[in-house]
Amino acid sequence: MTMRISDIEVYHLRLDVVEERCDGTQDTLIVRVSTDDGYSGIGEVDSSPEVARAAVDARFSHTLANGLRNLLLGEDPFDVERIWHKMYAGTLYFGRSGPALHAMSGIDIALWDIIGKACGRPVCRMLGGAFREQILAYASALMPDTAAEAARMAESFAVQGYRAMKFGWGTLGRSERDDIERIRAIRSVLSPDVKLMIDAGHAYDRRTAIRMAHHLAELGVHWLEEPLPPHDLRGYRDLAAAQPGLYIAAGEQAAGRREFQAWMDEADIDIVQPDLARCGGFTEARKIAYMALDRNRLVAPHAFKTGILLSASVHFAASIPNGHMVEYTQSASPLARALVHTDLQFHDGYLRVPQTPGLGVELDDSVVQRYLVRAQA
Ligand code: MG
Repeated sequence: MTMRISDIEVYHLRLDVVEERCDGTQDTLIVRVSTDDGYSGIGEVDSSPEVARAAVDARFSHTLANGLRNLLLGEDPFDVERIWHKMYAGTLYFGRSGPALHAMSGIDIALWDIIGKACGRPVCRMLGGAFREQILAYASALMPDTAAEAARMAESFAVQGYRAMKFGWGTLGRSERDDIERIRAIRSVLSPDVKLMIDAGHAYDRRTAIRMAHHLAELGVHWLEEPLPPHDLRGYRDLAAAQPGLYIAAGEQAAGRREFQAWMDEADIDIVQPDLARCGGFTEARKIAYMALDRNRLVAPHAFKTGILLSASVHFAASIPNGHMVEYTQSASPLARALVHTDLQFHDGYLRVPQTPGLGVELDDSVVQRYLVRAQA
């Protein structure tokens, strides 16, 4: 039986008002791959939607500068490895990382959705089998401006059953004292067995990062995420060498396994955070996970988008031996909350792996139509 890819559609969704803050739930790029025998798979891209979209739509320019749709039409979606390499090689001039690889990620997720649907099995089983039926999900939110607000938010997550939570970006980095005051306030309302993570959002310089990492370890913080900008791998290495006593997490900015190799071998991070909608999809994320396993590192996929990426992240984290936790955005955006119908269930701090064929998500067309950015005439 041969199946052929017959169409690739991309939908740019965007809220009416997009505010200037670090929040990936205000817009998104959805990919739908269809086959000649009636299957279709859904994927998501976390990038600048317009830029990533161009990598799909581009016409043929050169053997090493082709558009992804051109490269995919007529291919068998089961050939994920060969297709991945074909996309990588066909976009070599403008790809290898960045928006082209982000767009490839969305396509790869959609291919695995098709494979699962065609075989009648959830994606995690197509990826080689589930190591676990549920995965710890951490509530993820932007850091509020005041200690009182931060403590209130942490309490409400705990009441909902979360056993892990992360606060990040916002005004972190405003002052060391102020950051510590807010983190201490959060910690004070949580029982000691609740994991607390802090995402500093590149806010610190090298000396501050080392100092803060030691402070946060004393406050019982589980991991400190991205205290330094992503190009400062040497700074991360120095931070690890300073032995702060907590985990250092990073990797959401990286795409492709070679960048992750550098994050592990040069930056020496502890928790590796590939974003499936950016790193190269399931096909590349699995290689990254095993690279991490060989180096005895944990994997906690970054996911701050819609239910498509959330479901993909759960399947991924369930299907690797070193899946640590999954990020569960608490954004109120309708794109995060209402874009898909899914049987993904949160219970007592964990997300159950969907058992329906494929990713286990179905687009709500009314939400798609409501936020669809229509091409200008
Ligand atoms: Mg982050």
